Amino acid sequence: MSMYKQKIALDLDGVIWDLVRPWVAEYNKKYNDNIQVEDIGEYILSNTLKKATPEELSAILLEPNFWDKVLPFSNSYEYLEKLNTEFEVYIATKTDYKLYEIKVERLLQLFPFLRQDQIICTYNKRILDVDWLVDDYEDNLLGGKFNKIILDASYNRNIPYLNWYRAKDLKDVYNIIKYGDK
Ligand SMILES: [Mg+2]
Repeated sequence: MSMYKQKIALDLDGVIWDLVRPWVAEYNKKYNDNIQVEDIGEYILSNTLKKATPEELSAILLEPNFWDKVLPFSNSYEYLEKLNTEFEVYIATKTDYKLYEIKVERLLQLFPFLRQDQIICTYNKRILDVDWLVDDYEDNLLGGKFNKIILDASYNRNIPYLNWYRAKDLKDVYNIIKYGDK
């Protein structure tokens, strides 16, 4: 029996927890708008949330207590734990250094079975030498020698993905990696 554990890099925002929903809610409240998460047709939020500048949108993420409202997707805990038990899991996040500390703290608080040495901060996920990359942003999956799973969202649904896998949640991700479900 092979001892090799496949290496899996999972993106954080939009894969493990839902950042967009509280971000849009805060934007709607502050800028008196009524955007629904399902209306977001592309990854770059500032193209949809037009009453705020990109800088104002980013500033929302630095507000005290904002990250308390960021919650895991419904089955993230169960399936992240399963993935973490059966495979070599890394969390790969493209995160501004100003946000890194609070995101790592929030992640370890929500998922206490993770260790901080499993967390990678990079703006270039193509350099990762892993068997799988799971991400909700198509640009992060382009290039790279890993197998690719795009986490389904309104903002990536209309892009053609060649032979990428598509998962609706971490349960799908687990099944794809473990059993090869397409
Ligand atoms: Mg993401």
